[in-house]
Amino acid sequence: MTALTNLPPTAELQRLDAAHHLHPFTHGAGLRDKGVRVITSADGVWLTDSEGNRILDAMAGLWCVNIGYGRQELVEAAAAQMAELPFYNTFFQTSHVPAIKLAERLAQLAPDHLNHVFFASSGSEANDTNIRLVRTYWEMKGQPQKKAIISRWNAYHGSSVGSGSLGGMKGMHAQGGMPIPDIHHIDQPDWWSEGGDMTPEDFGRARAKLLEDKILEIGADNVAAFIAEPVQGAGGVIVPPETYWPEVQKIVDKYGILLIADEVICGFGRTGNWFGSETVGIRPDIMTVAKGMSSGYQPIGGSIVSDEIADVIGGGEFNHGYTYSGHPVACAVALENLRLLDEEGIVDRVRDHTAPYLKQKFESLTDHPMVGEAKIVGMMGSIALTPHKESRAAFKADAGTVGLICRERCFANNLVMRHVGDRMIVSPSLTISDDEIDTLIERARTSLDEAMAEVEKQGLM
Ligand code: PMP
Repeated sequence: MTALTNLPPTAELQRLDAAHHLHPFTHGAGLRDKGVRVITSADGVWLTDSEGNRILDAMAGLWCVNIGYGRQELVEAAAAQMAELPFYNTFFQTSHVPAIKLAERLAQLAPDHLNHVFFASSGSEANDTNIRLVRTYWEMKGQPQKKAIISRWNAYHGSSVGSGSLGGMKGMHAQGGMPIPDIHHIDQPDWWSEGGDMTPEDFGRARAKLLEDKILEIGADNVAAFIAEPVQGAGGVIVPPETYWPEVQKIVDKYGILLIADEVICGFGRTGNWFGSETVGIRPDIMTVAKGMSSGYQPIGGSIVSDEIADVIGGGEFNHGYTYSGHPVACAVALENLRLLDEEGIVDRVRDHTAPYLKQKFESLTDHPMVGEAKIVGMMGSIALTPHKESRAAFKADAGTVGLICRERCFANNLVMRHVGDRMIVSPSLTISDDEIDTLIERARTSLDEAMAEVEKQGLM
């Protein structure tokens, strides 16, 4: 349509990008050498770049475009809200219709006891809110010493100082003075990489037990909350053994510790239910939400909190808030997105059809010689690359070297898959068709073959 004819040449865009644009989570030198790929438009699950290539986006952007690209209804919701009321805040005893309606809708969708929403503009902000919220909750209940928050290594909860501290990415902690005090990390339930000779079931119980050990070490009277993603996303789609979450729920209940489920990726249909907490059978006190709430069409996030927490916090003043907490345009777009996900039966269809179909196709990749396991929950999955399936061995290279080779082959084959270490991830829009799933798997297979040839050539097997 419009864009391609009016675009500056790709090389010029790449030059300008390298000259002025600092990118998140990207090695500067690599970027300058290769130049960025410039995405110009998108429709359904298909991206178009400045060279006119059509690329299958198997990551829904950054795990967020749940409804798919190009939904005119969301454009219209944004335009109508901008015309009506482009901004007003929710501070100082004021509110507006989109925030009121979205809070009500989220309360309806969330588990029964979660009926109150504190808005933010991203998952990072919402998790920062959670740090202050749980500590303030305990303080208002007369237990100010309950400050410690337990999280897991290799978790991802955001990039701000607070949320990055909650996360368990050591490479992030190494930059910029993280973690902040009173955040503790325990090992993750990643059986493939860390399970050794244990069965997945025993390993799941053992990793849950680490939570109890940590609570006893710190003292239950000092622990405010445990935070975790129902299924770790950015850590590599780490699906915990089935024994893990029931044990964790028992432990937080036993010691009176708040449970924060970070649903930023898992929420809004990604795991085949509205929330990942339903899929793994937990009862969180707070859910962090973002991404799929607006399908990424507008930046919005939030903390959906229990009646008990809202009662306590509402008994005083919570000195916290963002200019864009409950931004009217973002709220209007999120509301429309949730209406479409519901009324078009998109979440139901994921559970009943699309996720089972994707699972069957995705798991078939394990017949590839370089694929160890394929793990998938709903519409988020990952394969573990290995030179030797039985021993779950690593390659003769730094972790991530082979993953990167594979990702680059995917890119060359017009498929966006992400790599985390030597795991390759998919998390497509929930609206992907069966034919598109077939194309995704074909391109992944071709890319795996090409990657394996390269890995052999480099002697990394
Ligand atoms: N929590 C989880 C589980 C996430 O995956 C992310 C983002 N990938 C965040 C929090 C942070 O969200 P944002 O990037 O919107 O700040």
